[in-house]
Amino acid sequence: MADSVSIPCHLCGHAHVEPLPEYAVLRRVTSDCKPWAAGGWLGVCRACGGVQKRMDAGWRAEIERVYREYTIYHQSGGTEQAAFSAATGQGVARSERIVERLVQSGLVGARGRLLDVGCGNGALLRACSRLLPGWSLAGTEINDKYRAEVEAIPGVSVMQVGGAADVTGEFDFVTLIHVLEHVPEPAQFLASLRAKLVCGGHLMVEVPHYVDNPFDLLIVDHSTHFSAEVLRGVAVRGGYLPGVLATDWVAKELTMVAQPTTTEPIALGEDIFPRIFADLRKRLDWLTEVAKQTRELARRRRFGIFGTSIAAMWLFGELDGRVDFFMDEDPTRVGRECFGKPVLSASQVPAGSRVWLALPSRIAQQVKARLAPECSNLEFFVPPELV
Ligand SMILES: [Zn+2]
Repeated sequence: MADSVSIPCHLCGHAHVEPLPEYAVLRRVTSDCKPWAAGGWLGVCRACGGVQKRMDAGWRAEIERVYREYTIYHQSGGTEQAAFSAATGQGVARSERIVERLVQSGLVGARGRLLDVGCGNGALLRACSRLLPGWSLAGTEINDKYRAEVEAIPGVSVMQVGGAADVTGEFDFVTLIHVLEHVPEPAQFLASLRAKLVCGGHLMVEVPHYVDNPFDLLIVDHSTHFSAEVLRGVAVRGGYLPGVLATDWVAKELTMVAQPTTTEPIALGEDIFPRIFADLRKRLDWLTEVAKQTRELARRRRFGIFGTSIAAMWLFGELDGRVDFFMDEDPTRVGRECFGKPVLSASQVPAGSRVWLALPSRIAQQVKARLAPECSNLEFFVPPELV
């Protein structure tokens, strides 16, 4: 096979990462929700099962472009994406949800020091400031674009441009919210963070969960696509013992809370590669089918896509922009334009329109069940079941 490369796995160092050539024909999308061209590469490590990109010169050049033009939440003017309940339509900022669950877990005391690595515009630190008022907060980011915004958050004592090693002192909690999937060699990266933790300190990692949300596979700047077992393996190789490893703190995401350990890494007994490879192929087939069905639906006007995030922007690219509108329930997005198309609320969508619910099937069905009675003049379509 021409593209069966023997690049080493960047998670475990094993020599062979098995490619899925069908990935190359799919359009992609950036993690800040901008459509991106097809032509990517995706493979699975034969040893650790890690789903990953080939981080060659071509990929690095693409990533550089993505980060140069990066805009956090451009669809809402910078406001963090809400984690919506499919059943009720109620939105809670994702960071609020994470910190609430952390408080409920009993793992955080009344006081302590927390370092958020890759803090962006301070979404997690803002939630900590509100929900953990006794804590001293610090953040790092690779540039100073949001420095003033982050430094203005009550409780933030440090906003360091650079990496965790550039921040002095040790912390009770180190958090990585949507960072690890961007990092080459994540196990080594986690290992390097142990020096920043006090004895008994915790590491928290939040990453997308491609198993529940196959659209994550299309994100060009994610170097790794995590499942729970692969995230656990990376943590163990980095010298941690995962306590919490949850799929229900935030829908479509994995949350891990781990502590440094001195015990030997646990060897994975089962050969997980065949199962992960087959399962991944199923997800790529599903994405191909979603793109096909979207193209068919979009032939008839008026056609709109529900949402303005990853899946919606990927399909917008697959359709070469032939969309009449986006429909969104997030009030920070409604009334704006997204790539020249209006973002409408349910009541603003013209009667008779077709609306594609670009979400994982189960979530799409819940949204349809909720919206259909109040929008009887619209036709909603959901992606096929992922079997
Ligand atoms: Zn591997």
